Amino acid sequence: MVESSSLLGWILASILGLLGVYFYSAARRNVEANRRRALSEESSDSVRNLTTTKGEHRSGGDANADADVIIVGAGVAGAALAHTLGKDGRKVHVIERDLTEPDRIVGELLQPGGYLKLIELGLQDCVEGIDAQRVFGYALFKDGKHTQLAYPLEKFHSDVSGRSFHNGRFIQRMREKAASLPNVRLVQGSVTSLLEENGTIKGVQYKNKDGEQQTAYAPLTIVCDGCFSNLRRSLCNPKVDVPSCFVGLVLENCDLPCANHGHVILGDPSPILFYPISSTEVRCLVDVPGQKVPSISNGEMTTYLKTVVAPQIPKQIYDSFVAAVDKGNIRTMPNRSMPAAPYPTPGALLMGDAFNMRHPLTGGGMTVALSDIVVLRNLLRPLKDLNDAPTLCKYLESFYTLRKASFLLAKIPFVLW
Ligand SMILES: Cc1cc2nc3c(=O)[nH]c(=O)nc-3n(C[C@H](O)[C@H](O)[C@H](O)COP(=O)(O)OP(=O)(O)OC[C@H]3O[C@@H](n4cnc5c(N)ncnc54)[C@H](O)[C@@H]3O)c2cc1C
Repeated sequence: MVESSSLLGWILASILGLLGVYFYSAARRNVEANRRRALSEESSDSVRNLTTTKGEHRSGGDANADADVIIVGAGVAGAALAHTLGKDGRKVHVIERDLTEPDRIVGELLQPGGYLKLIELGLQDCVEGIDAQRVFGYALFKDGKHTQLAYPLEKFHSDVSGRSFHNGRFIQRMREKAASLPNVRLVQGSVTSLLEENGTIKGVQYKNKDGEQQTAYAPLTIVCDGCFSNLRRSLCNPKVDVPSCFVGLVLENCDLPCANHGHVILGDPSPILFYPISSTEVRCLVDVPGQKVPSISNGEMTTYLKTVVAPQIPKQIYDSFVAAVDKGNIRTMPNRSMPAAPYPTPGALLMGDAFNMRHPLTGGGMTVALSDIVVLRNLLRPLKDLNDAPTLCKYLESFYTLRKASFLLAKIPFVLW
């Protein structure tokens, strides 16, 4: 009886084990099939087969690689990554579409968790000299009442807090810092496609600032081309959701009710945010549900802001809000979210908004990007030669698992804070 039950147990365990192996292999085959389908579907668009690129053939390409790593895009993710990998001794070639200072309404409040990542990457000086403001928590407003929530910073050095700033100034500081390393080459150019050979990404094709077609080769290409990424389609399954849009304004010379705090008005129909972006400017972001915002050109937006939004604004900043609406420098931006769904692809990796996005109300986009860079840096450190393709491939696959674990175990409290 004992023998037959242990035999039964053994058979059950074996069946379960076999089923596990079957489903694991099927899942792997699925990912692989999706990746191959994506690469072949995109071959006329964001991916080009190396053998057909202008009749030029670069076999293997390893010895011919121009760099160890190509980085597409020098926004928050690309610039920080370039500096990080450059500092680790990698030869980095960064291609950025526009090297002038960006002027955007995104990425202006770095949470304390993101600041800690900046310290880990040795980039904390990039929030110095740009009139960045310290942020210690949030003030929540509803129906005329408000309460303050402090970041749980007691256990950290007094320097640790959130930082808010002009996104473009922060990016320029990181670009300058990256480009100051002798082994980082930062060029202006627009990447048009990834170069693929037998399922492996070998580099990119891009137009330089004179409009000339160029190619660049490296054993690893990291795509950081942001929320409107054209290149991610071949490397992941992009399911982008746009639940709402942000309407952005700048309030000048006004004091927020709670200094050095982000302000969230739990308004109707949706939240309104305020936070300082310099010693004299306050960013206001009004969430407008849906994908369509009132027209700016025919005045509908001004009417909406004055009649629907203004009555919900705390009285201390009401006049500055109306003055900002009247000044008319109103910007809009869709709020996107996209779960990470990569097709692990030899020779290539996604990072930043190109890889995954969350609603900007979480204020976590930059923190996640910087956290991923720390994971990748630590992962790649022992791999001295990126030309070792099979090993690199294994490392890249484990990146997606590691960053998930790192995010779930350690980052959630600080992504939201
Ligand atoms: C309205 C709004 C507000 C937000 N507020 C916050 C916030 O307060 N805090 C926060 O942490 N996050 C915020 N986010 C999210 C945050 O902005 C992003 O997570 C962050 O900017 C992502 O950085 P990135 O480097 O991936 O992309 P980006 O910073 O957008 O950089 C992408 C770069 O790639 C370049 N590029 C694009 N295509 C090409 C190409 N083909 N060739 C070469 N270069 C190319 C672009 O020029 C750009 O420089 C906000 C987002 C939105 C929409």
